[in-house]
Amino acid sequence: MTANSPGVITSLLPSEPALIEARAVRRTFADGRVEALRGVDLVIAAHECVAIEGPSGCGKSTLLHVIGALDAPSAGDVSFRGRSLSTLDNLPAFRARTVGFIFQTSHLLPTLSALENVQIPMFEMPWSARERTRRALALLDSVGLSDRLHHRPGQLSGGERQRVAIARSLANGPELLLADEPTGSLDSDNAAKMLALLRAIHADRRLTLVMVTHDAAVASNADRRLHMRDGAIVADSARPPLLEPGTIA
Ligand code: ADP
Ligand code: MG
Repeated sequence: MTANSPGVITSLLPSEPALIEARAVRRTFADGRVEALRGVDLVIAAHECVAIEGPSGCGKSTLLHVIGALDAPSAGDVSFRGRSLSTLDNLPAFRARTVGFIFQTSHLLPTLSALENVQIPMFEMPWSARERTRRALALLDSVGLSDRLHHRPGQLSGGERQRVAIARSLANGPELLLADEPTGSLDSDNAAKMLALLRAIHADRRLTLVMVTHDAAVASNADRRLHMRDGAIVADSARPPLLEPGTIA
């Protein structure tokens, strides 16, 4: 991994590969009858904060899963720092060390405490029990849950559960944080807090944040917005459409 000085986006230099590059990515389901992704080309640089937005069913979750190596394209290729995900021989280990996932609902294990849930991904790392606990305590503190360590998910509010899920997604210090409708199950107050927390995490940890949402207000929190429709990216705020000849700006 390269050590970038703060504020310098070296990943945009030709010498440095993009963090994520998708080329002609297609994903079909049901023996090809459903085309969830119909040829997606996408480059995301390290440290970007990107929203992927579009109506329900347009392929947002499928794209996020493919970017995060939870699913593989039917055709085309996805690479991470210049290396095709299809060449990795241990995808679960890659995911556990490199990618954090947050979903619409927290997916916490109901019988484990907050402190234990946050440690689940850490078993992929060569850390002692003491080290895992130390890290989990720090992560729960960073999401404001130091007073809920021993609560189980059923004893927490929806907003608190999502904060535990954020802490868990950061367990192994991921370079890439993927959030699929992270505010979808929250009331507007908690949704705003969640988005502020995600932005703070993006800034403090200098990771790359990609969030998926059907809600334009949520997407407006990102620096770059990609619009999807029918399995394709139809607009990218980083690349405004060229004006038609003769158009007055
Ligand atoms: P979004 O997240 O934008 O709502 P999805 O990526 O979940 O959309 O789904 C895109 C399309 O692919 C939809 O038509 C959906 O029904 C279909 N799809 C997604 N996953 C599967 C699957 N596992 N099997 C069959 N069809 C699927
Ligand atoms: Mg979805």
